[in-house]
Amino acid sequence: MDVRRTAVVKLDLSDEQRDVLHRTAEQYLYCANRTADYCWSDTSYTECRINKRQVRDALYATLRKETELQAQLVQAAIKRAIEAVKACVERWKKGQRVSCPTFTAETMDYDRRSATFYRNKVSLATVEGRVEPSFVLPADSPTPYERYVLSENYEFRESTVRYDAVDGEFYIQISTRRIDGDAEVPADTGHQTVLGIDLGVNSLAVSSTGTFWQGDDYDHWCREFEKRRGEIQQRGTQSAHNALLRLGKREEAWRKQYIHTVANELVAEAVENDCDVIVFEELTDIRERLPQAKWHHVWAFRCLYEYVSYKAPEQGVSVDQVEPNYTSQRCSRTDCGFTHEDNRHGEHFCCQKCGYEVNADYNGAKNIGLRYGRKRTHRLRSSPKSGSGDAEVDLRVNGGTLNGESHRPIAGD
Ligand SMILES: [Zn+2]
Repeated sequence: MDVRRTAVVKLDLSDEQRDVLHRTAEQYLYCANRTADYCWSDTSYTECRINKRQVRDALYATLRKETELQAQLVQAAIKRAIEAVKACVERWKKGQRVSCPTFTAETMDYDRRSATFYRNKVSLATVEGRVEPSFVLPADSPTPYERYVLSENYEFRESTVRYDAVDGEFYIQISTRRIDGDAEVPADTGHQTVLGIDLGVNSLAVSSTGTFWQGDDYDHWCREFEKRRGEIQQRGTQSAHNALLRLGKREEAWRKQYIHTVANELVAEAVENDCDVIVFEELTDIRERLPQAKWHHVWAFRCLYEYVSYKAPEQGVSVDQVEPNYTSQRCSRTDCGFTHEDNRHGEHFCCQKCGYEVNADYNGAKNIGLRYGRKRTHRLRSSPKSGSGDAEVDLRVNGGTLNGESHRPIAGD
């Protein structure tokens, strides 16, 4: 069985190191954007698969010359851009409108050759040789960093250095994989407890434990900002233009801060309920599925998912996504599962078969968690290495636990 763990740690940087990392990120983004442009202008991508080697051969030498980046970082930037373009082509094949990916967020991928980990510091390749920042680690030991990155039972796979523009700090997210040598690895049974999350317009987020993040004030403030923008726009002067820019910046900072808070609370909910995984629905077609969602909702969903993906691993909690099909129409009682569009009326869910009545978003959150259980069980079953794959996943619900496999409600259904 493939067990992966992620640790996220904050880097403790001097002003000079900080500056070097920003400059490294800038050149990294330059390479990624150049690669995306190159792939995009080449129409052959629509007919056949993009050839990674061909793209690398065409760009690598030039990008090395144009930047001060070390070989692995140039390759990583090229790789990231190719993957993004490929994902675009996949969406394009499904008939969706796509445009050339652009990279603006300061994130860089590191591998074994560009990053080296020590007990209290990491050595990172940059535009000025290596920098070696130490970590800001949480007080309670063992931290995920100690448990996974420094453990002999786990091997380092890759890591991502990310600048968080909200709190102005650099973080490194480190992925590890358990080494399955002999079966002597400490008893990790693969058992997981899941927190399902439903994202929506009525409530921004609802967890399978029955906690609601309403988002009323989020909607309210987005409307207020909109109103204010409209008033300023009518003036049409140069000073109005400047005021508009300032307002835009303030609004963005405010929205990010808001979602940050929700993300933190969501991770805390998982930790308090001893959950190993937080599961969301995939957001790819969210606009089609939630036609009543405004752009600021869609922005909030993506932002929330991204923040939780970075924050949860700091607490040893992983994050995953499942396909969203019918999670809102399906009865979440494990002994029923009846799926029909008439089951849902706005915020109210009432199963037409068994009569189960519950808040529609809460019902959705449970389904998302249960779906993860089935996905994982299926994956374990189809893996030749795993045994029977029994009872690996429990879903944490309001006041109890559901076992996705046995279809036996234990409590709180
Ligand atoms: Zn039912």
